[in-house]
Amino acid sequence: MNKAVYPGSFDPMTLGHLDIIKRASKIFDELTVSVLDNHSKTPLFSVDERVNILKEATKDIPNVKVESFSGLLVDYAREKDFKVSIRGLRAITDLEYELQIAQTNRMLSSGALDTLFLTTAAEYSYLSSSGVKEIASFGGDILGCVPRFVADLVYAKYGIDKHDDLAGEVHNEQK
Ligand code: ADP
Repeated sequence: MNKAVYPGSFDPMTLGHLDIIKRASKIFDELTVSVLDNHSKTPLFSVDERVNILKEATKDIPNVKVESFSGLLVDYAREKDFKVSIRGLRAITDLEYELQIAQTNRMLSSGALDTLFLTTAAEYSYLSSSGVKEIASFGGDILGCVPRFVADLVYAKYGIDKHDDLAGEVHNEQK
């Protein structure tokens, strides 16, 4: 079976991530989206919350699985027999960092793990999880950046009250 892993922080998953997931799921028989449990970052959402968000967002794509991992991607990939890691490229600024990771993973895995880059859909090229969090923390509108149920969860984390009847309108009254 032709399978791949899409690793990342997904804190939270954005429409840009979802676009990559949909496209990669058409290229591979099975795609595993895997949330990295990275202790060096302080996430907004726990690993379980991030996994649940991804499961909910991909529930209609039958060949997508969601799980989490900790430690080195190469060790996890060897254990699960993944030969391809998917990463998204938004702009040239992603390239240097992503190339470094891709080459390191090839070296650490003795060539067993390759990285396949998908270029982001142009409409999502500006999107990042950190941007979404920053906008939401100030009560800004993130409805064009993440699915609606994710926006609700992000606002809830910041204690921001939003009126559902005003599509796209966000009120930043603190609870
Ligand atoms: P990481 O902390 O591993 O960079 P992210 O969750 O930020 O995790 O991103 C996971 C992957 O998704 C990375 O390859 C990143 O470049 C890609 N990505 C992030 N945002 C987008 C986007 N808007 N469109 C396409 N790919 C994206």
